Amino acid sequence: MKLNQFKTWAALGMGCLLSSSVWALEVNGPLVQGAWVPLKVEPNSTIEFENRRLTADPQGLALIAFSRDAKPKLNLTVTLPNGTKQQHELSVVQRDYLIQRIDGLPSRHVTPDEATLKKIRADGEKAAQARKLDLRMPYFQNGFDWPAEGWITGVYGSQRILNGHARAPHMGLDIASKTGTPIYAPASGQITLAESMELSGNTVFIDHGYGLRSSFMHLEDMLVKEGEVVERGQLVATMGATGRATGPHLHWGMSWFNVRLDPALIFELPRDLIRGDKIVSNQVVFDETQARN
Ligand SMILES: [Zn+2]
Repeated sequence: MKLNQFKTWAALGMGCLLSSSVWALEVNGPLVQGAWVPLKVEPNSTIEFENRRLTADPQGLALIAFSRDAKPKLNLTVTLPNGTKQQHELSVVQRDYLIQRIDGLPSRHVTPDEATLKKIRADGEKAAQARKLDLRMPYFQNGFDWPAEGWITGVYGSQRILNGHARAPHMGLDIASKTGTPIYAPASGQITLAESMELSGNTVFIDHGYGLRSSFMHLEDMLVKEGEVVERGQLVATMGATGRATGPHLHWGMSWFNVRLDPALIFELPRDLIRGDKIVSNQVVFDETQARN
């Protein structure tokens, strides 16, 4: 992402009003691919956005998010409790993602056996069920911290193209350090999944409410159980390399229902993270030798 796009976000600012009608739509944050944003509307309104119908709570709070490839203009319809409909057009900041092309690789097929495929499908179904939850607890409102210390080794949205074949984009943030490095809840929430999975290894979901959740993958130890409520900063797991991982790291994914989001956007950083940046004492230490902007 270019620096000037970050300035655009700042201009959108906190609490900007997108409508001059009687009931304004209040959007609390930047509208950018991979980000989530709380909305304030008339209490108990219904919101239609990206083929999803949401209900604002009795305080008028709702939350929406933008996918990696969200279009520049998206429509949002608010239906007030009295039936009046309001149409809004949201402008979404478009990002540039890291694309790596690697050619000339020997072709090699790894085909999992039937039992493994069955486990992968069952894992996927369990995760999909947890991603459908819409807990009416606004845990996300009390702020976020970095969940672990370590080096950034993978960023959101990046894509490898191997011998001309596009792999699925990387939909989270990788933070690498030693096995056993503590991992803390970035924000309060409810544990909606704590399970050993084939590909993602030991996996924990922390639901932050209103469809927003963190997923932690490749964990060594899971220190929480499904149904438990955790506080921001609580130790929940340790870093490992379980599942399909080449070394110990935390894959921190965030999602709004099944829409994958970029955790780094929470922290309103001056530039995108790159390999070589570090998380130390809940701060980013930017690797200035590699900075591109
Ligand atoms: Zn990852």
